Amino acid sequence: MSDNDDRFLIVAIDGGAASGKSSTSRALSERFNFMHVDTGSFYRAVTFKLLEAGVSPDDETAVAEALAHLHPSTRIEGRSARMEIDGWVPGEEIRSAPVNENVSRFAALPVVRRFLLDYQRGQAEVARANGFRGLVMEGRDIGSVIFPDADLRIFLDASPEARARRRAAEGQADQIHERDRLDRQRKTAPLHCPPGAIRVDTTEMTLEQVVDHIANLVEARLR
Ligand code: C5P
Repeated sequence: MSDNDDRFLIVAIDGGAASGKSSTSRALSERFNFMHVDTGSFYRAVTFKLLEAGVSPDDETAVAEALAHLHPSTRIEGRSARMEIDGWVPGEEIRSAPVNENVSRFAALPVVRRFLLDYQRGQAEVARANGFRGLVMEGRDIGSVIFPDADLRIFLDASPEARARRRAAEGQADQIHERDRLDRQRKTAPLHCPPGAIRVDTTEMTLEQVVDHIANLVEARLR
């Protein structure tokens, strides 16, 4: 056994909507005993709560006030970290049309991003404390803002057609183009492939090929 067997690894996976982040991250978490964190589900859960509170993304002051009443915590389910908010466990409701329509508008607000920043960084400690060998975190700004020093930073890309096909195959109606446009154009933590990250175009690849490719990059960092 080498010293590296004990190394805790952080893998950041970013990309647009339906670029394959979740399936890839979940498969990597299984393969390497990493804790899986889907940060999109955090933005979705917060969006659900803000909509429930009747707050509009156009009113940043009201958003800040509503956020002050939310207390997120983490629960581990299998290899995934799930956000709970004051005892509420987000379910399928965070994939609903109102959330799809509003999540990128709330996510563009600096006050919302600040609210989730430390919570997301804190997931590394949650993973360590729960005996995981590392963390695979997916989102839009993981390799650029949350963990710019991650051991491996991947940016997944696919043609708009391939992404629309994948989302439709999941049976989901989702405005992926509109969300990507807002996510790319926002001032705070926009979606982009940061310098030093590895871009992987998955248009012509199967999920297995993508996972194998990234798994090889992980192995190289464990050596
Ligand atoms: O990953 P998913 O498509 O579920 O994310 C929903 C939305 O959450 C994204 O369109 C984006 O607006 C926001 N998000 C973000 N930063 C992250 C993860 C998600 O802004 N790290």
